Amino acid sequence: MEKVIIVRYSEIHLKGNNRGYFERSFAENMEKALRGIKHEIRKHSGRYLIEGFDDELTDEIVARLSKVFGIHTMSVAISVKSDLDEIFRAACKIGPDYGTFKVETHRADKKFPMNSMEISAAIGGRLLDYKPELKVDIHNPQTVIGLDLRENGTTLVFNGMIRGAGGMPVGTAGKGMLLISGGIDSPVAGQMIAKRGMKIECVHFHSYPYTNMQAREKVEELASVLAGYTCGTNLHIVKVTHIQEEIHKKCNGEYMVTLLRRFMMRIAERLALRHGCQCLITGESLGQVASQTIEGMTSSGSVVEKLPILRPLCGFDKNEIIERSRAMGAYEISIRPYEDCCTVFLPRHPVIRPKMEDILAEEAKLDVEALIDEALASTETVKL
Ligand code: ATP
Ligand code: MG
Repeated sequence: MEKVIIVRYSEIHLKGNNRGYFERSFAENMEKALRGIKHEIRKHSGRYLIEGFDDELTDEIVARLSKVFGIHTMSVAISVKSDLDEIFRAACKIGPDYGTFKVETHRADKKFPMNSMEISAAIGGRLLDYKPELKVDIHNPQTVIGLDLRENGTTLVFNGMIRGAGGMPVGTAGKGMLLISGGIDSPVAGQMIAKRGMKIECVHFHSYPYTNMQAREKVEELASVLAGYTCGTNLHIVKVTHIQEEIHKKCNGEYMVTLLRRFMMRIAERLALRHGCQCLITGESLGQVASQTIEGMTSSGSVVEKLPILRPLCGFDKNEIIERSRAMGAYEISIRPYEDCCTVFLPRHPVIRPKMEDILAEEAKLDVEALIDEALASTETVKL
């Protein structure tokens, strides 16, 4: 009796001609997720089997795979010889002791002397005899015991299905540059886009020494959580202290956030192009804070020349974002108190609906290109 994990994939099978490419990325991503654990991955009639692992690592493997996009469902199964007695013994072991159940059989092995209905009935009947507190319910059972008779003479016996993360394999939809702050929103935005198959790089802006080292560690931790879903990521850390000082010294204080945002977007776009990213991603949500009005987005978006900006959270309420943040395991890190660079030199009354001509007039007081070059030169990259 060997334990195996059955992995069923979701939308990948829709991708007609690209199917091979999608499946290769998918298998590679599973390999990466299971790095350090002894195992084998085998493709088997439209699904994958994880085999050859230590029994006690089953939960760990399922936990790691639950972060791999493209997985529809998983089942922990016992693999036995296709023989009624052996199948029955495995079903006893893996099935419940009470409640309602049914047996569902899939028979790829057409040489087996019974058809799938007969096999389900035989195993179901024997389970009823052996465990008197079980009852059959064909329509709405509490437990479905699955039997998968394979062509190679083995049968997979499993109890129910575990929901996977869904989506598309990371790496099949290009690469994007996520602007990641230490807040709740941006890691969620990155995870949502990764779910559609995009590889993610991250950029974070800090104002050391006005922001402290804990702020930076926090962002590294958040990017690591995200990296668990994106098969790794690079975090680019850029110092914008001098930019903030210059704005503070030379411009109307009310425009601090507006002007800084425009710098962030310009720098992010240049880094994105340097690293082969095809878009920028932000955690903005319409109307959430003063800088996230449509006017604010117009102002920050208008400096990005070559790339589209994805804002996957635009239509979400804060509580919906928090739910996703909790589910991905980022929330407890995001709510740790810290100074974001945007809160340094923060004006008491930021402009809420900045007018473009006023923004441009304020920006004209700065040597924009020199400040961008200086910030870019400060970039440190951490591989996660
Ligand atoms: P978050 O929870 O992601 O911090 P927020 O609600 O605090 O978002 P803002 O501070 O207005 O919103 O930031 C909007 C978006 O701008 C963020 O989601 C992020 O994509 C980007 N951003 C803000 N600050 C930074 C920063 N210091 N470094 C990188 N990106 C940033
Ligand atoms: Mg923030």
